[in-house]
Amino acid sequence: MTKNDLFSIVKHFELITTDRYCRRLSRHNVPYKHLGVSIVLSGIHAIIFDLDGTLYFSDGLAREVSLAATRFIARLKGIEPDTAADMIRETRARLSIASGVDTPLTTVCSELGGSPRQFHEAITPAVTPELYLKRDERLVNLLASLKKRYELYIYTNNNSTLSSRTLSTLGISDLFNGVFTIEDSWRPKPDRSALRSLLSSIGRLPEECLFVGDRYDIDLRLPAEMGSAVMLISSLDDLFRLEIPAGGKTP
Ligand SMILES: [Mg+2]
Repeated sequence: MTKNDLFSIVKHFELITTDRYCRRLSRHNVPYKHLGVSIVLSGIHAIIFDLDGTLYFSDGLAREVSLAATRFIARLKGIEPDTAADMIRETRARLSIASGVDTPLTTVCSELGGSPRQFHEAITPAVTPELYLKRDERLVNLLASLKKRYELYIYTNNNSTLSSRTLSTLGISDLFNGVFTIEDSWRPKPDRSALRSLLSSIGRLPEECLFVGDRYDIDLRLPAEMGSAVMLISSLDDLFRLEIPAGGKTP
């Protein structure tokens, strides 16, 4: 990640340390419960979340997706799964070096001859979010609180069936104004035209949106280039930097 990337991450935020944050809150007589680094959003009307690896973390589920992709390529090419796994790894590395950015699994499988539609049809029956995830009360409360102030959306490279099962298992299905999946365009993130179409569909300008994701190249680089605020997270705790202080007001 370059200095410019870091700059764009914080472009529309104020990152306020606990000390300064608490002093500002007490000056405004706002009660607070949130300790740690917090984020104050300005001019943001919509928050657009990636799903997998952003609203939950599960190595087991990630392994299941990876295994399903390996089996799909093995069948497609008529090769052993171990060979298919090597092929996926090498293809991802080659594409990422050529483009200079990380490559999503759907794009890797397309490069190997399986269309995004075939890929998703193949992996859906083999992936079981219900085995790995459960209702997350803290996440439910965070999103319910954010929903009072912002429009909330999902934008994912996952398909609608698995996304819907994942959201339902986490207990957050009803908290989004809209869910954008691979079926909307069959063009995986990052894709400028799919992103433009999403923004047009929600009626928001890039600068009115905050994108939240776990992979900068895939989820955030393009929105940042287009003028959106972005937030890179590496753990579920990072998400809670979006928590609104008790009293419902930010300074
Ligand atoms: Mg992700």
